Amino acid sequence: MTITTTGRLAFARTVSPTPRTADERAAILAEPGFGKHFTDHMVAIDWTLDEGWHHARVEPYGPLLLDPAASVLHYAQEIFEGLKAYRHADGSLWTFRPERNAERLQRSARRLALPELPTEVFIDSIRELIAVDAAWAPSGDDQSLYLRPFMIANESFLGVRAAQRVGYYVIASPAGAYFTGGVKPVSIWLSTEYSRAGTGGTGAAKTGGNYAASLLPQNEAAANGCAQVLFLDAATGTRVDELGGMNVFLVYRDGRVVTPELSGTILEGVTRESVIQLVRDRGLEVEEREVPIDEWRDGVASGEISEVFACGTAAVITPIGELKGTGFSVGDPAAPAGELTMSIRGELTDIQYGRAADRHGWLTRL
Ligand code: PMP
Repeated sequence: MTITTTGRLAFARTVSPTPRTADERAAILAEPGFGKHFTDHMVAIDWTLDEGWHHARVEPYGPLLLDPAASVLHYAQEIFEGLKAYRHADGSLWTFRPERNAERLQRSARRLALPELPTEVFIDSIRELIAVDAAWAPSGDDQSLYLRPFMIANESFLGVRAAQRVGYYVIASPAGAYFTGGVKPVSIWLSTEYSRAGTGGTGAAKTGGNYAASLLPQNEAAANGCAQVLFLDAATGTRVDELGGMNVFLVYRDGRVVTPELSGTILEGVTRESVIQLVRDRGLEVEEREVPIDEWRDGVASGEISEVFACGTAAVITPIGELKGTGFSVGDPAAPAGELTMSIRGELTDIQYGRAADRHGWLTRL
């Protein structure tokens, strides 16, 4: 075991005695898929009310030892993040706006009554994992190493209160291109029976419960031939919130771009924020405001809205071809992806993969 000191915490490092061989790794990287394979190591940091954050370490990837009474298993006190490491042509590894993910994890922590992890420790935790597992970052087109930091309440106590023992972890999973064979528009299912988040709830936090609640409507979407669910606001059921795992944008024929405002019930996507910046850089207007679902439906039907897309870390930007709900559908599932959609997608991925200048200083070298 060796001790390295970075940022505010010293990370102990225990190298896996049984890492996959180079051949085994190459076989996985040839067809990584998404979220199926994990690297040889993980990061763990403990927190207690008395000691704060301590015992930071890199250790072999493996099961967590959890007491059956660990509060996360009963009351879902849990938060997570998702970001990627991108390999540039010269072999170097970079991540995209990690400080925004660190800040979002801090906001999620506040809402879930979990301790905040300092931004430097968050970024160091990723660096520490990359230091041992860099070879797991693929180098193919649109491939990346997906990073999953998460925090759980692991105090053994069945009382309903904020846990006094918490664990923070980072695992990593090689990710293939989201779209193989070209970017294709997806169909989206409008859920009218179920909501994702209500005012004062946890919609703006990246917490497991939000995703658990989205699984039943997600099944409904799949049964109707759709890739994802569109959720409306819970209070009135008339306004667009977001998809189960992505933010949405409407593009008007006259050049205006519209996206739901940060109302407290949607997740503040890092991709959303970056898309807004890139669109504004082109001199186009972006309106962040309430978006009535009727505006989307009528605008697409009349042709006033020429493109609709969703965005998030996993798929970057996904064109939405068709919106379907009980008894209606608008848009053409077979229409080609929109021009602005593809152009912004290209610009963003060029920055992430180092093919274009990083003019906003969004990249951090790992
Ligand atoms: N909304 C939800 C509900 C999500 O899970 C995600 C994925 N993190 C997003 C939006 C997009 O966020 P980002 O661009 O930061 O990945």
